[in-house]
Amino acid sequence: MQRGEPPRHNSSRRLRDALAGEGYVLLLGPMSIVELLSLRGKYEPLEVYRRALEGRAEGVELLRQALENGSVRKIVYLGVDGALPRLLGQDHIIDLYGSLPRLRCPRCGRKWWLEEGTVCPNCGIKGERDSWETPRSRLLSEAVYELTTAEIVAVHGLGEPPIALGAVLAISVSRFTRVMFLEPVPRQLQGLGLEEPGKKLLEMLQELVSG
Ligand SMILES: [Zn+2]
Repeated sequence: MQRGEPPRHNSSRRLRDALAGEGYVLLLGPMSIVELLSLRGKYEPLEVYRRALEGRAEGVELLRQALENGSVRKIVYLGVDGALPRLLGQDHIIDLYGSLPRLRCPRCGRKWWLEEGTVCPNCGIKGERDSWETPRSRLLSEAVYELTTAEIVAVHGLGEPPIALGAVLAISVSRFTRVMFLEPVPRQLQGLGLEEPGKKLLEMLQELVSG
């Protein structure tokens, strides 16, 4: 802070400058995968997942490149279709509600995808769904860390009305870093000063990939 600068109005900006890190972190909802996979209409999570495995979509390919060149650091995902971690690898994705098509062994903890069968490859016992209704605190704190330390948080696909947790995260991290909506800001979140650059998700990814 400059000497003599009035302290009022600056606390959240100072906090932002102190914390802002590098790279984009994406906060995506279930509608994002529909756009990334160039799907139309309504899909059930498992159907989205199966469609994703049928082939590479342009949006997923752009996302892969943006993750590889480091412009996108992490994706916090609020859907349960499992398509993004399956296609892009779990390292880049925090799926707060887990993934419906992923199973977990209750004995050894191994995780695998539905198409590999329903029993643990290690123990031969039946897997449990690796998804849940309330995000686990470890995942939630990891997500909050990534979002608050991002250079920019880009929000997409929360729906209208927005997913409650997505709305809370978007509002609260906007005190720490830039938050922009790649779609009209949902009605319930209007008037909070959230940025709306008027870009589509794929447009933003294209820009990030082409540098
Ligand atoms: Zn096992």
